[in-house]
Amino acid sequence: MKSYFRPEIDAIAGYVPGEQPKMANLIKLNTNENPYPPSPLVAEVLREFDISRLRRYPDPMADGLRDMFAADLGLKRENVIAGNGSDDLLTMIFRAFTAPDRAAAVFEPSYSLYPVLAAMQGAPVKRIALGTGSFAYPADAVAQAGDANLLIITRPNAPTGNCAPKELVRSYCRDFDGIVLIDEAYSDFAADNCAEFATEFDNVLVMRTFSKGSSMAGIRLGYAFGNPVLISGLMKLKDSYNLDMLTQEVGKANYADKAYRAECTAKIVADREKLTAELAARGFEIVPSQANFLFAAPPDGDGAGAFALLRENAVIVRYFPGEVTGKYLRITIGTPEENRRLLEVISEKYPPC
Ligand SMILES: *Cc1c(COP(=O)(O)O)cnc(C)c1O
Repeated sequence: MKSYFRPEIDAIAGYVPGEQPKMANLIKLNTNENPYPPSPLVAEVLREFDISRLRRYPDPMADGLRDMFAADLGLKRENVIAGNGSDDLLTMIFRAFTAPDRAAAVFEPSYSLYPVLAAMQGAPVKRIALGTGSFAYPADAVAQAGDANLLIITRPNAPTGNCAPKELVRSYCRDFDGIVLIDEAYSDFAADNCAEFATEFDNVLVMRTFSKGSSMAGIRLGYAFGNPVLISGLMKLKDSYNLDMLTQEVGKANYADKAYRAECTAKIVADREKLTAELAARGFEIVPSQANFLFAAPPDGDGAGAFALLRENAVIVRYFPGEVTGKYLRITIGTPEENRRLLEVISEKYPPC
């Protein structure tokens, strides 16, 4: 059949999300979800929710959520936009700032959704390689980004887990003549974040999600903040009711419980350090991680083999084939029991030395 699609769409391979297998007894360490449930306050909100409210449309602007985020960040409502997951915000951002004559610049390796969104716009992508082995951020990234209109820094980075040094990010924000998006999907697990750049610079957006640190990947909630001019421009592009009523209610309840979130995060960070040491003792090369996952290469560099071994034993991690990434596994930090099982399987082939 003749294709009626725009040629840009025919050319897209399509983003492939990490698998969500249905097998029982599976240890799922492949999509960086939180191993702990959301705050108990969420259950309370759901239990008490008046179902008849669902007849009505939700607040199109999600102002309750925006006010909460703004208060926490020392900003105003006008500085904040909420999205149906941060993927929704990424869609708005690519629609707003990229086009055939407005390139996106991304680091490699990074979140593989960005180039797919650029392709939908027919926008060119400039790929800026991170340092070999170290995944260090190049000092000349802005020069490499050239005349791109959007530069994305994932901090901490996925899938590598390392953070671009904050002062270097500040220099990118200052020197780049375009929009700098700092994707802080994993900042809950990092030593610091770049929130202040959203007010220090007019051209910077910082974006966060509830999917990782807030244990609510299933609810689809993210937010971005920056200059009100950027935020009101993005508002023009969003679906009218992009956040459903339940997401708004549940999101507020979960966000309010900071103590619970901090407790879960602290456990994950401590277990990240433990797992790093255990894998290092088995000869793995591990990128120092500021996220809730490790990017780790087995001593023989056979990432595909280690992935298969784990899979045969019902432990699912993420594997990214390719010359740079193919040596590594990306392993989500699970519960202590899950991490122990992962190590048990790994030790069959790579015993502690
Ligand atoms: C998980 C992730 C997202 C997407 O988050 P959602 O809010 O679930 O859409 C965005 N950016 C990066 C780098 C991620 O790892």
